[in-house]
Amino acid sequence: MKYPVIISGGGIIGCYIHLRLKQEGIPSLIIEKGLAARESEINIRTISLNPSTYKLLLDLGIQLETASVNTIKVSDRDGSGKIEFVASEVGEEALSHVAMFNDLLDKMQDLAKPAIQFESEITSISKLEELTKITLNNNSELKTSLLIGSDGRKSPVAQLSNFISKDNDYKQTAFTFLASEESASNIFVASQIFSDKGIFALMPIKHENKNMFSVVWSVPNILIKDINIDDFVSKNIDTVTSNISSKITLESEIISFPLSNHHLDSYMKEGVVVVGDAAHSIHPLAGQGINLGFADADILCEEIIAAFKKGYSIGSYRVLKKYEIRRKSINEIMLKAMDGFIGLFGSTNIYIKVLRNLGLNLFNKISFMKVFFINHASGSHKL
Ligand SMILES: Cc1cc2nc3c(=O)[nH]c(=O)nc-3n(C[C@H](O)[C@H](O)[C@H](O)COP(=O)(O)OP(=O)(O)OC[C@H]3O[C@@H](n4cnc5c(N)ncnc54)[C@H](O)[C@@H]3O)c2cc1C
Repeated sequence: MKYPVIISGGGIIGCYIHLRLKQEGIPSLIIEKGLAARESEINIRTISLNPSTYKLLLDLGIQLETASVNTIKVSDRDGSGKIEFVASEVGEEALSHVAMFNDLLDKMQDLAKPAIQFESEITSISKLEELTKITLNNNSELKTSLLIGSDGRKSPVAQLSNFISKDNDYKQTAFTFLASEESASNIFVASQIFSDKGIFALMPIKHENKNMFSVVWSVPNILIKDINIDDFVSKNIDTVTSNISSKITLESEIISFPLSNHHLDSYMKEGVVVVGDAAHSIHPLAGQGINLGFADADILCEEIIAAFKKGYSIGSYRVLKKYEIRRKSINEIMLKAMDGFIGLFGSTNIYIKVLRNLGLNLFNKISFMKVFFINHASGSHKL
């Protein structure tokens, strides 16, 4: 069988690309290793969508139950440093919109369902003259003008194409869970607290019509070497959140993820391209993972659609290289910036602690720097 586009990975980014190309009359098939999101019983993870991502979803007609964040407060629990980002500083109504991860994935998969082949995966990729040939785990063979890898970290498409990955293990684990806040007065405020017990992020979320909070707590592995996760959370949550005026209470089980980042040295070769977490992953502190993926997908679709309309080959080196040029350096800057932040806040050196508190307070007073930072995080910069 021959398809113009085959997408490996039916996650949020893979489904987005399928739906966006479909709007322009470019059909694609999605190969997804797992079952549909609806089959999953756990719905704890949340995702914060920046204004650019939110608009891309609205443009596809996707509406979600979200909480809007209009203020982000960043503070150092062991010092006086703090920064506050407010949406009105950049003329936006919200800095981000927080949704349940599975609700978004379920909506995307539902819309893309006729094109998704669940429980299948690619086992080999080979280049024919004009086309790329793939073999699936059921031994069937398919041919395509363009193979897109949106199959997450450790992407099989990236590995089978021999793209080289630079990996960095943070030696941290992220705990994520749903929580309630006693006063419930901060439903538009996200907080990030840096402390010697890790980085604690609290985001408002609207779930089944209730105002709740989602926690992503990144903890150095050394602190949880001899203690189980539930005990660590119950022992430290009050101390870590003492900057927040009211008590935070756990409302779900805790799920945990090891934290690392990676970046591929190349995103493409003739007939094959990778996007989203298949190409790069970032510390969740930034809340930028899915947003970088959407920005990749948006630019890739722009280049494919432009080539298609001009009658060019959509899998050609020229078309895919343009996408890589427009996205790789921007992603690299974001990854490096996050590493710098984590290094700065991970340090227990007293001089660095003093400097970072001074730095945070200074940064908070310089409005043009804050506007620059918010604009980058909101995804409004496009090459
Ligand atoms: C704790 C935590 C919190 C996070 N919070 C945020 C946040 O608030 N905001 C944010 O922007 N980002 C956040 N992220 C990151 C975000 O979840 C990812 O960036 C995003 O899910 C990447 O989307 P993707 O579609 O590229 O990849 P994935 O979501 O990984 O999807 C890949 C898909 O490919 C499928 N697949 C895998 N292997 C194969 C194969 N061999 N063949 C076919 N299919 C395959 C998988 O089943 C999956 O459906 C967070 C991450 C973590 C770990």
